[in-house]
Amino acid sequence: MRAIESRGTVTIAKQLCKGCELCIPACPPRVLEMSEAHNEQGFPYPELRPGCTGCGACLLVCPDFCFEVFLYREPVAHEVAP
Ligand code: SF4
Ligand code: SF4
Repeated sequence: MRAIESRGTVTIAKQLCKGCELCIPACPPRVLEMSEAHNEQGFPYPELRPGCTGCGACLLVCPDFCFEVFLYREPVAHEVAP
């Protein structure tokens, strides 16, 4: 196991997502991955993995306003598989 720190988190309004994937490369630590599942409109949507910095890049790039971004007061540690 290895430890990853998150300094922030996001909410993702997956039902608004059109699956354009613009947010995936826009995320500097690359902690967004498209889902295997599809929303009610038939599109895959991003899911958050540990390591978000709260930078807000996803919020700025998403044309459908799917993201809200929150900063933690203190970083949160996650144990993840290597
Ligand atoms: S806030 Fe920044 S680090 Fe977190 S998911 Fe969005 S782009 Fe990635
Ligand atoms: S940028 Fe917005 S609409 Fe495009 S895949 Fe990401 S969350 Fe969905």
